[in-house]
Amino acid sequence: MRVAVPKETAPDERRVALVPETISKLREAGFSAAIERDAGSAAGFRDSDYSAAGAELVDSAALVAGADAYVCVASPSAERVASLAPEMVVIGFLEPLTDSEGIARLREQGVVAFAMESIPRITRAQSMDALSSQATVAGYKAVVLAADRVPRLFPMLMTAAGTIAPVRALVIGAGVAGLQAIATARRLGAVVSAFDVRPAVAEQVQSLGATFLDLGVRAEETAGGYASELTPEQQAQQQAALEKRIPDFDVVITTAAVPGRPAPRLIPASAVESMRPGSVIVDLAAETGGNCEVTVPGEVIEHGGVTVIGTRNLPSTMAYHASQLYSRNVQALLLHLAPEGELVLDWDDEITGGACVTRAEGAAE
Ligand code: NAD
Repeated sequence: MRVAVPKETAPDERRVALVPETISKLREAGFSAAIERDAGSAAGFRDSDYSAAGAELVDSAALVAGADAYVCVASPSAERVASLAPEMVVIGFLEPLTDSEGIARLREQGVVAFAMESIPRITRAQSMDALSSQATVAGYKAVVLAADRVPRLFPMLMTAAGTIAPVRALVIGAGVAGLQAIATARRLGAVVSAFDVRPAVAEQVQSLGATFLDLGVRAEETAGGYASELTPEQQAQQQAALEKRIPDFDVVITTAAVPGRPAPRLIPASAVESMRPGSVIVDLAAETGGNCEVTVPGEVIEHGGVTVIGTRNLPSTMAYHASQLYSRNVQALLLHLAPEGELVLDWDDEITGGACVTRAEGAAE
């Protein structure tokens, strides 16, 4: 099975779908790989590293010729989709819940497309869980950005000039990104509190040395482990409770999300205005509109002396490790779909059937 890997073209996308280490492993498993020249350079992987791993370096125009699979990070452009052969396998973050046009294009082209977002979150598929691997990177980076901006030291310091109090950080949404943010802020020495509408996470929060903040708002947990959306009354209750507590914190990291829905609005402008000058909010939900009312997606702004960071696509800013993890997720999926280097698509399999977002009628079993 021949796998083609493009240089990503989306603005500010620095990641690459397969790194040299993975290509070596895939070759041992019977795959061959074509990689677009310069595809890994923004993430720190040289063309010569790919050659050494046994990949064939090709120009963009020749990339998909003879390939059986096209493996990317962001959804392919319309122009690229038009160049894909019917029944070719496509793997990437294809945004199945939000980019209906992109999915329709793939369907019309007759390819067999697997969205990394749609891989079921079951134990057997953990090694393929790219949402988790990238959320881990984002949670880490959010804390690093906050530490860079906040005019305070994170740890408590006892110096000859007296004692410095530690940063007090609040993490809202204790899923994969939130838990990593808690762990990172703790490692830097902050005193951390966290809140989530799924009460089941309280124990995980405490095991990381943080305090679970009970705002009295609870949502149902769906079968996939996700939160369901709050009712408007619950949202208002949450906003009011947060508004009371938020002035206690120097750093707030928000990661609250409900799959396929706009980010829940948790922090009203009035709550931002109640924070001390110099405080920092990092809104990891900026991509889907933001958890904070004043967030400007893609920008860093100041609102009444509070810095609000809405930078998008944080994993791309840590492109080396984000690509390495993503590449391993993709490798696991490829080995699942083609265990001996030949496609065996079992549509009754929970992973294969669950991750597939469109396929040609009668695609090979
Ligand atoms: P996510 O990115 O969709 O959401 C982030 C967090 O926001 C979640 O914890 C959610 O409960 C929380 N949230 C939603 N609305 C909120 C609100 N109004 N206020 C505060 N918090 C709110 O979720 P995710 O991090 O990708 O995953 C969530 C959970 O899925 C995990 O913690 C885990 O339980 C489960 N999961 C399971 C597996 C597995 O079994 N293989 C893998 C990954 C995740």
